Amino acid sequence: MSSEYEKLLDSVYTNLPKKEATAERFEMPKFEYFSEGNKTIIKNFKVVCDKIRREQTMISKYLSKELAVPVEIRDERLVLQRRLTGDMVNKKLVEYIMKFVMCKECNRPDTHIEEMGHRVRNLVCEACGARMTIR
Ligand SMILES: [Zn+2]
Repeated sequence: MSSEYEKLLDSVYTNLPKKEATAERFEMPKFEYFSEGNKTIIKNFKVVCDKIRREQTMISKYLSKELAVPVEIRDERLVLQRRLTGDMVNKKLVEYIMKFVMCKECNRPDTHIEEMGHRVRNLVCEACGARMTIR
């Protein structure tokens, strides 16, 4: 367990708005992965994507770009073409969730993404109705 990862999670929760303090704490999903040769394989990739209700392709593109690693979706797993040290994949997952899943208004994960065209996307909250432009 990386303490750096724990610190990141702590800072995420500390920065949440206080008004929703009574709302149940969102259980942050975690990738389970292992190394195979020079590759890193996330074995519960689809499970995590389903849990946060995002397309596997969107998350795989995000990880590929952020980690500068070619990736390949293979069945329910994601194969990253590099052996990654530390807990980079889970740090990136937390970042992704904070950017593209959690509602900035009410802090719930009950959101979906609407394509608005011209590469503009909106994060729409099903709990409070907030709409936020994301990039
Ligand atoms: Zn909301």
